[in-house]
Amino acid sequence: MERAEVVSRLRQSEVQLVRLLFCDNAGIIRGKAVHVDELEARLVSGVGIPRAVQALNVLDQQQPVNGMGPVGEVRLAPDADTFVVLPYAPRSAAMIADLLTPDGGAWDACPREFLRRMTRRALGHGLQVRAAFEPEWSLAIRVEDRYVPIDETLGLSSLGMQTAAAAVDEIVEALGKQGMRVEHYVPELGHGQQELTIRHAPALRAADNQLLYRETVRSIAYKQGYFASFAPKPWPEQPGNGCHIHVSVWDPSGEENLFSDRSAPYGLGRLGRRFAAGLLAHVPGLLGLVCPSYNSYQRLRPGAWSSAYGCWGPDNREAAVRVASTLAGRETTSINLELRPADGSANPYLALGGVIAAGLDGIVRDLDLSDDLLALADPASLSDEDRESRGIRRHPETLALAADALEADPLLTESLGPVLSSSYLAVRRSEWHAFSAQNAAFEHKHHFWKY
Ligand code: GLU
Ligand code: MG
Repeated sequence: MERAEVVSRLRQSEVQLVRLLFCDNAGIIRGKAVHVDELEARLVSGVGIPRAVQALNVLDQQQPVNGMGPVGEVRLAPDADTFVVLPYAPRSAAMIADLLTPDGGAWDACPREFLRRMTRRALGHGLQVRAAFEPEWSLAIRVEDRYVPIDETLGLSSLGMQTAAAAVDEIVEALGKQGMRVEHYVPELGHGQQELTIRHAPALRAADNQLLYRETVRSIAYKQGYFASFAPKPWPEQPGNGCHIHVSVWDPSGEENLFSDRSAPYGLGRLGRRFAAGLLAHVPGLLGLVCPSYNSYQRLRPGAWSSAYGCWGPDNREAAVRVASTLAGRETTSINLELRPADGSANPYLALGGVIAAGLDGIVRDLDLSDDLLALADPASLSDEDRESRGIRRHPETLALAADALEADPLLTESLGPVLSSSYLAVRRSEWHAFSAQNAAFEHKHHFWKY
């Protein structure tokens, strides 16, 4: 959409405020809202926020990061292409913003710019990456200091569809109005747990969609008296919330899925195998981006269908990389790779940018997808010796270890660049320190309604 079109649409609407949103290093969606009368000018100049915003952790504790103290500003610069009127707050609209320096250049700590750079890197190889986030989330009410699931229904149960129907119906309608195409809905296994998926899109749009999706689910739930949580492990005794990332690589026009080869095993051609091999080569460091919260590591356990080991397999829900079986009638377009450990506490720009960097590395280095890492059954059913001899490694088991793995992965840190990677690691390590000194009640309280 052109800027002029945004302004003319606003003039004909009831909207008073336009929320300029971004996602920070802690995975929190933040922003500032601008009055409509001010928007036209701000579309050019942006809106100032402190540079320190990228040094805040999930507890709003500011970390000592060079250049991100009390001095200095950046600009929230809204992207006109992302303009939507918010169906759940019709006097407000939203636009996704980039973080720019005051002179209008890209700020090197901007997560959205990182993803844009990675999509350009892919295009440099003649490839368009498409993706879909597959969010699971929990619906709760608040009882004193705790959040309690809205029901105790079983996975896929029709009763679960009904207990959540008022919220889910309104959410589906609101996602559609914002241009997201809902594909399916399922009341998931956990108490109060839901899964509602939307169609894949070019990478930057997919990450923007993830922000608008999280906003929509949380806002509609809240309006109806519920609390919706994307926390990876909302309750220690309940299944976790994944947000698996589905990815496929297409020609630049987005017409042909280049992963597809119907004569190859599982329909996954050579390009897809190299991309998957790249993901697996970088899994430990990648976890620092796709499973970035303290709470993430309560979810990533064997037997939880979140994956706990660095292996791949066709429709294997315990593998880090699942080759999703193709859909009848859409065999060549539906082939995709699913990164299972990813969860909804991730900053989607950093997560997807990391996925693209890793996958492209597999393509550039022509890595082969090893049969040793092929898991046709639950990798936990192999003996320790078998896993060891095949090179199937357990994922990092804490946020501290994942942050170390990220720091030790030069491809990922160089792709992020020094400012983004150092601020990100400072924020994440501070969260490790803060939460590891506390108990489970503190963890529940400070993760449940943040993501
Ligand atoms: N809830 C599981 C997870 O944490 C995923 C279950 C499923 O396969 O949908 O990833
Ligand atoms: Mg699911």
